[in-house]
Amino acid sequence: MTLKLYNTLTRKKELFKPIKNKQVSMYTCGPTVYDYAHIGNFRAYMCSDILKRYLRYKGYRVKHAMNITDVEDKTIKGAIKEHISLKKYTKKFENAFFEDLEKLNIDKANIFPRATDHIKEMVDIIGNLLKKKIAYKAKDGIYFDISRFKDYGKLSGVELKNLEIGERVRKDQYEKDEAHDFALWKFWDKNDYDVFWETEIGKGRPGWHIECSAMSMKFLGKSFDIHAGGIDLIFPHHENEIAQSEGSTRKKFVNYWFHNEHLLVDGQKMSKSLGNFYTLRDLLDKGYDSRSIRYLLLSSHYRQQLNFTEGGIKAAKNSIDRLNDFMIKLKTMKIKKNNPKIKKLILETKKDFEKEMDDDLQISNALAVIFDFVKKINTLIMNAKIGKGDAGNVYNLMLEFDNVLGVLDVKKEKIPAEIKKLVEERNKARKEKDYKKADKIRNEINNKGYILGDTEEGTMIKK
Ligand code: AMP
Ligand code: ZN
Repeated sequence: MTLKLYNTLTRKKELFKPIKNKQVSMYTCGPTVYDYAHIGNFRAYMCSDILKRYLRYKGYRVKHAMNITDVEDKTIKGAIKEHISLKKYTKKFENAFFEDLEKLNIDKANIFPRATDHIKEMVDIIGNLLKKKIAYKAKDGIYFDISRFKDYGKLSGVELKNLEIGERVRKDQYEKDEAHDFALWKFWDKNDYDVFWETEIGKGRPGWHIECSAMSMKFLGKSFDIHAGGIDLIFPHHENEIAQSEGSTRKKFVNYWFHNEHLLVDGQKMSKSLGNFYTLRDLLDKGYDSRSIRYLLLSSHYRQQLNFTEGGIKAAKNSIDRLNDFMIKLKTMKIKKNNPKIKKLILETKKDFEKEMDDDLQISNALAVIFDFVKKINTLIMNAKIGKGDAGNVYNLMLEFDNVLGVLDVKKEKIPAEIKKLVEERNKARKEKDYKKADKIRNEINNKGYILGDTEEGTMIKK
């Protein structure tokens, strides 16, 4: 089966075919480092993560770039308010972002370019747009002339009315009904304090949209495969990225536009402006663990809204616990005769998982396939119809799935030799019906931070 992805540009599910055979180039709009990212933002990075991991699962190599927006209206405002340099202000949130990515087990991009390190690339594109007369100079900056780009609106479907032509918008964020010429370069004024670059197009700083055009094309080329972000970025950000990039290169900028729906709280988008947000830190402080939050964020289809509740994290924890317990059970199985039916079940499960993921990443169905498989294998284990070799194959399949999901805690389950020895001693004592000794050893194991569970298949050890 071949992967199909929904493309916002064509509003259709399309067969995915990268420009270069087995190599995928992918760009995700990264964080604006003016504050801690909230878990709504992390839903966007999680959706990108699942896509990237599944592409790898299918044998593609993925070159992934994610920018760090460290200069735009909000970061400047924040730095001025705190009377510190822009660099110092944004660095703190950039570091926090990387820490959060790690905690959420979101695979790092190959490159995290910072906007402030790519001013030259932005100036070059703006210079080119000026030369082509697609951009023009106004009193307060350089603007993109949307009337000079005939495809303007092709991504978002925004319709241009005559009166909008020639009107300008200087803000980085604006709404669909404000489709005007937008700022590529903002000439310095006193509100920008010490944030400016002296360049051949004037003293000033870039608009937000040009940053992503410049950084994506620098690292991935003039045309690349996938561009990802939340649906709120379709307009104006991504519409403007297309206009700037294609206006400048005359080449198709991106083949597949991948947009995730929002994380909601009580039916409303989780956002800073509404104040209804949780950062990862907030939730970890409340005692939730990051794997459960990861599971919650990835477990529904990326094009469906997801309502956030703390109950949802608890349910996610139960699901992960079931998977991790299953992995432990597989590892601690006693030898039994292998069952010829298991190989077939493994093949079918893999096929069903891929069928769901190939269909525009239907992850909730893919998870249902996995849980159904776990249930079937558990029944076979209970009825002693599975051998050690089978268990190894099941274990490996689960690891393969986890290359996409990233939720299993298989490392933690490595039991130290000392504990294993105690378990053996305890088993021996039990065999010899020396229950007093067996209980003593169990206590000793508990005191060392491990718990035991006696199942029909033998003893399970858990940290
Ligand atoms: P920002 O830092 O505001 O540019 O946002 C970073 C990413 O998070 C973008 O891709 C946004 O579209 C995305 N995003 C923001 N809020 C939400 C939300 N509530 N749910 C899902 N994605 C979001
Ligand atoms: Zn962007």
